[in-house]
Amino acid sequence: MTPLFDTLRTLVGSAHCLTDPSATSPYLTDWRGRYTGTALAVVLPADTAQVAAVVQACAAVGVPIVPQGGNTGLCGGATPLADGKAVVVNLSRLRKIRSVDPANNAITVDAGVTLADVQAAADGAGRLFPLSLASEGSCEVGGVISTNAGGVQVLRYGNTRELVLGLEVVLPDGQIWNGLRALRKDNTGYDLKHLFIGAEGTLGIITAATLKLFAKPRQTVTAWLAVASPAAAVELLSRLRSVAGDRVTAFELISRPSLDLVLQHIPGARDPLSQAHPWYVLVELTDTLISVDLAAVLEAELATAIGDGAVLDGTVAASQAQATALWSLRENISEAQKREGVSIKHDIAVPVSAIPEFLDRAGAALEACYPGLRIVAFGHVGDGNLHYNQSRPRHDENAAFIARTEEVGRVVHDLVHELGGSISAEHGIGQLKRALLPAYKPAVELELMHRIKYALDPRGLMNPGKVLQGRRAAD
Ligand code: FAD
Repeated sequence: MTPLFDTLRTLVGSAHCLTDPSATSPYLTDWRGRYTGTALAVVLPADTAQVAAVVQACAAVGVPIVPQGGNTGLCGGATPLADGKAVVVNLSRLRKIRSVDPANNAITVDAGVTLADVQAAADGAGRLFPLSLASEGSCEVGGVISTNAGGVQVLRYGNTRELVLGLEVVLPDGQIWNGLRALRKDNTGYDLKHLFIGAEGTLGIITAATLKLFAKPRQTVTAWLAVASPAAAVELLSRLRSVAGDRVTAFELISRPSLDLVLQHIPGARDPLSQAHPWYVLVELTDTLISVDLAAVLEAELATAIGDGAVLDGTVAASQAQATALWSLRENISEAQKREGVSIKHDIAVPVSAIPEFLDRAGAALEACYPGLRIVAFGHVGDGNLHYNQSRPRHDENAAFIARTEEVGRVVHDLVHELGGSISAEHGIGQLKRALLPAYKPAVELELMHRIKYALDPRGLMNPGKVLQGRRAAD
């Protein structure tokens, strides 16, 4: 491999072609610490031309490539396999905000710009980039697009797929496709950008994107409510949306065990209510107009819901600081779980109306098989998306429970499937769920995915071992 290393060093500079284990190790393990791989090298190109040259050099000698952004993905998609045959191409040095066009409500950025920096650039231009994730300080545009990330504002603005206008991609043979069009309408054939959105780096490397911007809300109301049940939460969401429409920008369900972990592990976290309740929702309403009294709209609906017994208690943030504190309870759930230890994680979607049935039936089935287990359920109930995680509260019993991940997953995923849902709502497939796809995706759909993969990457050099299971050389 010496000639390849020499070429890569010449292309990106020695300082950006890492081979020493102490330098490469942060790039070889995923955020959860579940997967650790090995790689020939970790390469950090500075711009699109360098990415293309690196891909060409690797393709010339048949070396696979693992694209990587902020390495915050939760399915092992950015972690190389253990065989050590691949080169990791990390995009973090591609950091330019290429242009902001407020009149066209569009921003064009390099793939390595963090989500927080895109939000800040939009804000600086008097606009909103609405995608918001707890990992936004570290995750990058290329990673967010490649996982089609969701987050807390999908209810109002859609997931990443709906926020992308155009892409620039380095294809598996090193060609650059410039599809950076800031158009709302373009019916000139297949819309190729959608192939790369959510492809988890298996079809090419995204080097830049043109994203949609929106008007900035001028008022926000945030409330933390104890609800009688998940069914009461779904009913409240439906009522709020019929009154406030798209002003309901976030509606997050949080179970008590989720809150307990945050209170236990996150310094400064405080229960907003004086009594414990089994279920909460975090609601956010926003408006670009100030002439509508959003707080009054919310309070009127809450008065009815309290009268009906659907809402048991609650607090409406009286300041930005209070709103931030409420949001940090929600946003720290993943971090608190990480500090607590390993759990079996599911990121599932079902129709919103089926959420109460899913929670009832999955909870009962799991409790019957594994009495006393802890279920941490929370998520974007307005999108029908729940993070549904299991562990043993006693640490000395947890390892044996985690060893049963596959059978626990089957209970959850079979029910999700029966309810017409998805086994991966927003985190993707990566290494974690690829063995599950054949059981839950229609054979025709899977076959089309294999054909697309083969058409774009016939030698299977782009992120091998992710998403699809091998049936052809390309997989
Ligand atoms: P990486 O982890 O580096 O990569 C993810 C995948 O994309 C890999 O398959 C990789 O090969 C591929 N990839 C990366 N960059 C490129 C590129 N330029 N071109 C082609 N392929 C590429 N997700 C949600 O949807 N909603 C949430 O609310 C959410 N919350 C999170 C909270 C925390 C605390 C954490 C740690 C993660 C969370 N995530 C969430 C997971 C989410 O997938 C990531 O944060 C983000 O989308 C990944 O971006 P990244 O730059 O870190 O990508």
